[in-house]
Amino acid sequence: MAEPFIIADNLSYTYTDGDGGETAALKNVSFTVGRGEYVAVLGHNGSGKSTLAKLLNVILVPTSGSLTVAGKPIFDGMSDDEVFDVRRKVGMVFQNPDNQLVATIVEEDVAFGPENLGIPRDEIRLRVDDALRTVGMYEHRDSQPHRLSGGQKQRVAIAGVIAMMPECIVFDESTAMLDPRGRAEVMRTIRRLSDDFGMTILHITHYMDEAVMADRVMVINDGELYADGTPKEVFRDVGALRRVGLDVPQGRELMDALEQNGVSFADSPIDNAGCAALILERYRSRSK
Ligand code: ADP
Ligand code: MG
Repeated sequence: MAEPFIIADNLSYTYTDGDGGETAALKNVSFTVGRGEYVAVLGHNGSGKSTLAKLLNVILVPTSGSLTVAGKPIFDGMSDDEVFDVRRKVGMVFQNPDNQLVATIVEEDVAFGPENLGIPRDEIRLRVDDALRTVGMYEHRDSQPHRLSGGQKQRVAIAGVIAMMPECIVFDESTAMLDPRGRAEVMRTIRRLSDDFGMTILHITHYMDEAVMADRVMVINDGELYADGTPKEVFRDVGALRRVGLDVPQGRELMDALEQNGVSFADSPIDNAGCAALILERYRSRSK
């Protein structure tokens, strides 16, 4: 495996409210994400996904166990410099693009992050142009963000993160508020960041069709790591996913229904075209 970028070892986080009430949001979670991996984090509402994102960005610190990011432990009492260093390495893209755009012109918005990092002007110019090209929004550099579609706004938000040159980007349900076209634009952008730039990606989502685009899927259920493997491995067990309130890709669902009726397949593809091909193959061999 590649050099580890994130190491969670018996990581737990418990929220405590004013009245002493406690919610265990993450319970003894252990996993490693290698540098350059593209991992989808799947789980129904309230399973602890955003809590994990907040720990990776030092908005929260573990209540027990340990979390290491780029070789640095996340703990209560880190110095401002240490926190800054982690936040520079791990960029975050959230759900609502409107809450992430701050400037009135697209390119100024993208420049905002690197300006805060104290990057020299000339360098910022280059980074902003590169980042906008990477997300396919360079032609819109002079536009006003509020005139853009949801998918375009989210791509500008991603450009703003890329311009800070993080080593990893965590997307916390960044497609949830977009229409299908906007979602597809953002998914293509994420795939590109992984393929062309080798960036470490954690994509938190509850869409199956998005999770299958990752190289690895981790399922979190009620604060525990429930499954961890390639999309093919994780989606093979349709029953296990249903038990924790998750759907499976449509093609897989159809194959599972056939399997329940005694039809067996040699493979368990996750894309609809692959499923259709296997079903067709069975159909043809039977009708000979
Ligand atoms: P997800 O992102 O998977 O929907 P979260 O990490 O937001 O899940 O939440 C995990 C659990 O922690 C839920 O039970 C949620 O209600 C609880 N929780 C989240 N934020 C807080 C908070 N600030 N105070 C108390 N409980 C919280
Ligand atoms: Mg969440």
